[in-house]
Amino acid sequence: MDYPFFHVSHYINGQFIDRGPRFDIYYPATNYVIGSAPEAGAEEVDAAVQAAVRAFGQWSRMSSAERRVLLKRFAQLIRDHEDELAAIETWDVGRPIAENKAGYIARIAANIEFFADFAVTHGSEAYPMDNGYINYVLRQPVGVAALITPWNIPMLQATWKMGPALAFGNTVVLKPAELTPIGTWRLAQLAHAAGIPPGVINVIHGFGPDSAGALLTKHPDVKLISFTGETTTGTIIMAAVAPTLKRVSFELGGKGANIIFADVDLERAVSISLRSSFFNQGEFCLAGPRILVQRPVYEAFLSHFRQAAAQLKIGNPFDPDVRVGALISREHFTRVSNYIDLAGTDGASIILGGTPPVLPEPFAQGNFLQPTIIIDVKPHDRVCQEEIFGPVVTVAPFDDEEEAVAIANGVSYGLSAVVQTRDVGRAVRLGSALEAGTIWVNDFFVRDLRVPFGGMKQSGIGREGGHYSLEFYTEVKTICLSNQ
Ligand code: NAD
Repeated sequence: MDYPFFHVSHYINGQFIDRGPRFDIYYPATNYVIGSAPEAGAEEVDAAVQAAVRAFGQWSRMSSAERRVLLKRFAQLIRDHEDELAAIETWDVGRPIAENKAGYIARIAANIEFFADFAVTHGSEAYPMDNGYINYVLRQPVGVAALITPWNIPMLQATWKMGPALAFGNTVVLKPAELTPIGTWRLAQLAHAAGIPPGVINVIHGFGPDSAGALLTKHPDVKLISFTGETTTGTIIMAAVAPTLKRVSFELGGKGANIIFADVDLERAVSISLRSSFFNQGEFCLAGPRILVQRPVYEAFLSHFRQAAAQLKIGNPFDPDVRVGALISREHFTRVSNYIDLAGTDGASIILGGTPPVLPEPFAQGNFLQPTIIIDVKPHDRVCQEEIFGPVVTVAPFDDEEEAVAIANGVSYGLSAVVQTRDVGRAVRLGSALEAGTIWVNDFFVRDLRVPFGGMKQSGIGREGGHYSLEFYTEVKTICLSNQ
């Protein structure tokens, strides 16, 4: 097998800089070293923040139309490099190339394009008062935004945060997850080639605690933090930013329910459930790993779903027919496997998977786990409560709407849910009753960029998307204009 080698660097003040001890980057499908990246310390973090502070002057004063020209050029370069970026995301994450080609890179570009346009077309509020005075609202960029992203969808997360931050006139310091730094570094090269001025985008690499991530959150010149990652990390960052009162937006963990009523077309329900269970080998915050099926179709669904999941091709992520890739790391593989062991000891039954597949070399060295289906679970079992973040789902029967809602809401998370029914009234009732930031009815993972995105309960704080991103990434002023 031919491996590339990615010599990843920081991107600070328009320059690609190699400073700090280097750490290895592993290809999840074989655990072979495919590159290395430098770890930023206090000096590099400060250099990146100061570059962003300096660039803020010019960038924030540009008109949104001028920024749009540069951002659109950046987005076009992303589109022009679709095949290369799709491959990079597979090297980084171990996700099947087929999933990266199905509109994924286009969405990475769309995140930039959408907000570049939104910033130009968006107006503001004005309230003429009875006495002839006018109150109007002015929105201005806030300053330096720290963008901290997880390893599961790195490039999508990078542009989901960069798009609005930059379009509304802020400058950014982005820290990708240490396990997947390649794609974000490559995006920085494309932004550079697009002519985005030095210091507007800075990318630093490193770890979280006692490293680049923590240093960034504590930096006094960082005004905003948009963080996506684990709920526990969110609590640590919340405490870290308290002394400097930074504004935060948190997109955290999830444990979505996928509720299937007896009136559905079973074939479609199985197809939706395969995607909501195993997209990105289940390493997906929006997944629906708690499958709840109304009793009359429980056995039929289970049998079809099990059969379909067993047929998903697993292995070489660059094989276009592969549908299940490798877990991100050996450590994460062990964590996911421990949940499967736990299910066994809690009295549940594993009716599919539970073990690594038999694969030829070099993939036998990778972090593959077969799609796994667990039944005979109780709602309070740890496998039904905690985020496993792998190709592992539980399937359980329910009798009526009320019971389904109670089980679905009976977790600490509230990020997303899937409801499958042909009954419109029921869909409306569940849309209201479910505690989740996003609810899909009869589909999965489709979202207009204008709608709010984020989680309830332990799944996050705040919303981004459309004007919700405008709220977060701008400072708002009320100006009262006298008519005298
Ligand atoms: P993580 O919390 O371990 O790390 C996320 C990022 O935070 C990484 O860049 C990491 O280096 C950094 N970090 C870690 N500790 C830090 C600290 N103390 N200070 C500052 N930065 C720190 O998460 P992960 O394991 O990379 O990602 C998986 C998690 O992300 C899952 O829980 C998943 O549900 C969540 N996620 C949520 C969404 C969403 O939209 N809600 C989307 C994708 C992933």
